[in-house]
Amino acid sequence: MAFEGLTERLQKAMTNLRRKGKVSESDLRQTMREIRLALLEADVNFTVVKDFVKTVRDRALGAKVLDGLNPAQQIVKIVDEELTKTMGETAVPLNKSAKIPTIIMMAGLQGAGKTTTVGKLALKLKNEQNARPLMIAADVYRPAAIQQLQQVGDQIDVPVFQLGTDVDPVEIVRQGLAEAEANHNDYVFIDTAGRLQIDEQLMDELANIKALAHPDEILLVIDAMTGQNAVNTAQGFDDKLDITGVVLTKLDGDTRGGAALSIRAVTGKPIKFIGQGEKMTDLDVFHPDRMSNRILG
Ligand code: GDP
Repeated sequence: MAFEGLTERLQKAMTNLRRKGKVSESDLRQTMREIRLALLEADVNFTVVKDFVKTVRDRALGAKVLDGLNPAQQIVKIVDEELTKTMGETAVPLNKSAKIPTIIMMAGLQGAGKTTTVGKLALKLKNEQNARPLMIAADVYRPAAIQQLQQVGDQIDVPVFQLGTDVDPVEIVRQGLAEAEANHNDYVFIDTAGRLQIDEQLMDELANIKALAHPDEILLVIDAMTGQNAVNTAQGFDDKLDITGVVLTKLDGDTRGGAALSIRAVTGKPIKFIGQGEKMTDLDVFHPDRMSNRILG
């Protein structure tokens, strides 16, 4: 289960605190030490942990929480609020273009869940807004990538534009956008190539696609299971592409929590959606407050 270890350890820290009728500064220090270790063990970025712990401690001391009623309860509330803030405070909606089509470019490492997420998002827009999306298959390197997108398209009844694997991805996108224009599609998804790790050539290709398509949204798909690496990946993509948002996938797995808690704080870019399963309907809007509740258990 996601966040299992983190939840357990945070609850333990809180229970220890609640046991004390009166909370001294040294008790608070002890609790913050436990929270710090819990977060570090969950693979949360070191600087994020440091800032988080300092903010919670300063707030607790500043508000004279320790002298008031139910200090433990107050501290739990502060932890909840600060976790929420660390993850971005409120949900951030998908960008939308003033005139159709809204162009959404998807990026990410191979296996992160890009193609699956394109389908999930297209289906969501179809179901919720009666949208008429077009999906462009611009991953010409991974064997069977186009076929996979085509299968997703068939499953959710959304058309796929493709020119096989022998055409330059930028050219595929150019023609795909023309097709969307001709058919009055209101959303276009560009499924780009991934690699096992970030490399110069991949980044240049993505930058070229961005320059041509002027996407309204560049969503980076990140596998939550990859912890700190997820954060480094996000930073790398953001430096080159200036992404507009993140989709965090595989939150149905036993991720420790590091990616969910670090990405926003490190990159400044919002997590917009979370993937919670392999089915086309397993995509949800990311709500920082709900995620904080889930983490605190
Ligand atoms: P891509 O290489 O980035 O396009 O990744 P794919 O879309 O092919 O996904 C890789 C694998 O991850 C597939 O087996 C997907 O079914 C799976 N996957 C994607 N998103 C999720 C998710 O949110 N939860 C789970 N459990 N699996 C996912």
